[in-house]
Amino acid sequence: MSPNPKLFAALLILSAAAFVLGCYRRFSLVALGQPDHRLDAPGIRMRRMLQFAFGQQRVIGKPFGLNHFVIFWSFLVLAVANAEFLVSGLMPQVSLAALPASIHHPLLFLFDLVSLSTLFCVLFACARRLFFPEPSLSSDYVKARSPEAFLILSLIALLMLAYFGLHAAGIAIGVEDAAAMPVSAFIARHLAAPLAADLATLATWSWWLHALALLGFLAYLPQSKHMHILTAIPNCFFASLDRPNTQPREEFARGKRFGADRVDDFTWKDLFDSFSCTECGRCQAACPAAGTGKSLNPRSVIHAIKTNLLANGAALRGGKNPLLPLIGAGEGSSTEQSIWACTTCGACMRICPVLIEQMPKIVKMRRHLVQMKATFPEELATFFENIEARGNPWGIAPTERTKWHSGMQVRPFQEGETEYLLYVGCAGGFDARQKQVTLALASILDAAGVSWGTLGKDEKCCGDSLRRLGNEYVFDRTAQENVRLFTERGVRKIVTQCPHCFSTLKNDYRQYGIELEVIHHSELISRLLATNRLKLKKQVADLGRLLFHDSCYLGRHNDVYAAPREALRLATGKPPAEFTRNGKDAFCCGAGGGRMWQEEQQGERINLNRVKEALRHGPDTICVTCPFCLTMMEDGLKDLQGGAVRVRDLAEVVAEGLRP
Ligand code: SF4
Ligand code: SF4
Repeated sequence: MSPNPKLFAALLILSAAAFVLGCYRRFSLVALGQPDHRLDAPGIRMRRMLQFAFGQQRVIGKPFGLNHFVIFWSFLVLAVANAEFLVSGLMPQVSLAALPASIHHPLLFLFDLVSLSTLFCVLFACARRLFFPEPSLSSDYVKARSPEAFLILSLIALLMLAYFGLHAAGIAIGVEDAAAMPVSAFIARHLAAPLAADLATLATWSWWLHALALLGFLAYLPQSKHMHILTAIPNCFFASLDRPNTQPREEFARGKRFGADRVDDFTWKDLFDSFSCTECGRCQAACPAAGTGKSLNPRSVIHAIKTNLLANGAALRGGKNPLLPLIGAGEGSSTEQSIWACTTCGACMRICPVLIEQMPKIVKMRRHLVQMKATFPEELATFFENIEARGNPWGIAPTERTKWHSGMQVRPFQEGETEYLLYVGCAGGFDARQKQVTLALASILDAAGVSWGTLGKDEKCCGDSLRRLGNEYVFDRTAQENVRLFTERGVRKIVTQCPHCFSTLKNDYRQYGIELEVIHHSELISRLLATNRLKLKKQVADLGRLLFHDSCYLGRHNDVYAAPREALRLATGKPPAEFTRNGKDAFCCGAGGGRMWQEEQQGERINLNRVKEALRHGPDTICVTCPFCLTMMEDGLKDLQGGAVRVRDLAEVVAEGLRP
C-alpha cells in the first residue's frame, strides 16, 4: 500500500542523499588517519564481533542492558520489514506477501511482536533518562545531549505506533491477515467499531507517518550520535587483538613527528572509534580519575576527537593546518591536565561495549607532549633524568640494587644452571618497604627449592612508567639494553613481584623480538603451594581478616585473577574477602601510568578513595600484589588514620607460614 509512489520516491531520494552524504562526510574524515593494520586473524575478529556487537556481551551485564539488547535485535529484525516498506513504497507489487504463507506469516508474527517489545523498551529508556538517571547519565554533558536522545527515541516510538496503525487498519478493513499479527489484530478489534468510517484514512495517515519517521531517521542518522548503529559492529571487528593493549613502537627518524597533537596524527581506527562511541558513559563511571574529580573523562576524550575531526576536516583535506587544537582547552580539545591524569588502569577499555581504545589515545597525546614539546609535569623531569642516568626512578647508584639481600646468600643468574631470573625491579631493590617483599619472595623460592638468580647491579628499570608516560625514546633505549642483556645472559624464564615489570617484560618486550616466559610471583607461589612443592609450617592465621586488592596490571591487563586468590586460600585456609569493586571491575590504586611519580592536585586522591572502600569492609590486612599498590594503600591508611589495618604483599602473607 503506497498512497503516492511518486511523492514517496522524491522523499526517499532526498533522505537517501542526506544519508549517503552524511556517511561519506564522516567516513572520508576517517580516511585522514594514519595507517593501522586491523585485518589480521579474521576468524578471531569475527568471533569477537559476534560476541560483543551481536551478543552485546558488555551491554547485557549491566542494569538496563537487556533493554538495549532488545532494541538492538529489534532494529535488525525490523530492518527486513522496513526494507520491504521502502521497496513496496516505490513498487507496490513487490512485497514479502509474495513469499509462501509458511514463511510470510511467521515473519509477520515476528515483526508484530518485535514492534511491541521495541515500543516498550523505548518507553522504558525514556523513563530511565527522565526518572532514574545513573550518575553517568546525569552529567552536564549528557543533559546537553538529551534532546538528541529523546528525538531518536521519539522517532523509533513513532515508527512503532505508525506500524501498528497501518496494520491494525489493514486488518480492520480486511486486507491483512489477523491471525499472523496478534498485536495489530488486538488493536484492530478495538478500532473497527469507533473508526469504522475512517479506517482508510487511518491507514493512509499511518503509512505516511511511518514513511516520514523512517526517512527522517535515515537522513538524521549520520549526523547524530546514533551513527554508532552503523559503526559499532565494524568497530568490534577492527578492535585491537593485542592483549593487553600495549603501545606500538615508534620509528625514530630525523624530521618525524611523534605522538598526536593533530587529529590526523591518530590512526584511522582511532578516528573510527570516535564515530562509534555510543556515549553510554560506562568508561566515565569506571574511570578512577573521573570518579575522583579529575578533569579527565575518557568519554570526553573520545568525543573531543570526533568534534575536532569534524571541525578540522575541511582544512586537513585541503592540506592546511588544523584550526582547532587537539590538546588545549574548550570543546573539541583535551587539556594537558586531563591527559596527565590517566593511570592507564584500562578500566575504560574493559567496560566499553563497542571496544573503543581510549587509553592508547591518551598515551599518544602524552608522547607528543614529551617528545615534541618537552612539556610535562615538573616532577617528571627528575624521574626521566634519573632513569636515563642511573636506570632507576630515584637516581640511586646501581650498586645499591643488591643491598636488599645483605645477610642472605643470593646467586647470580647463570645460563644453563639457573631456571628463573628473579627480576627484582626498582621498588624491590631500592624501596625500604618493598625490600621486605623481595626477601619474603626469596625465602619462599628457597623453601620450595626453586632454582633462581639475579642480575645484581646490572639489572635496570624495565621502563613501564616511561612508556605509559609517553617517553618512548628513553623506553626504547631501555628496552633494547635490557633485551640485549637478557639475550647475552641466556635468560628465558623470569619471575617478578611487580605487575608493571611483569606486563612490560612479557608483553611490551615482544615488540623487540624476545619471547620470555614471564611469571608473576602470585602465579608461581600459587603453583608451588598447589603442587605441595612449597610446604608451609603453619596455616597463616595471625593476619586476621584479609581483603584482597587487584592490581590493574596483573588483573585487568593480564587476566591474572585466580592465582593470587588461590595462593591466599591455600596459605590461610580460606579465600580472601573481596572489595565491592573487584576482579575486572577493581578500582585502581592511583599509581599506574606513571602517576606514581606525579603529585595528585585535582579532586580526591585515588588511593584515599580505594582505602575508604577497603575500610568499609572491615579488614585487618589489605593484601596486595604490586609495589605501587603497597605504597598507595599504606599512604592512604596513614592519611585516613586506618587504625591497626596493615598492608601486606602476598609473598609476605605466604612467608608468614614458613615461620615456626
Ligand atoms: S585507563 Fe583508567 S585512568 Fe585512564 S582513562 Fe581509562 S579508566 Fe581513566
Ligand atoms: S567510549 Fe565506550 S564506554 Fe565510553 S561512552 Fe563511548 S561507548 Fe560508552
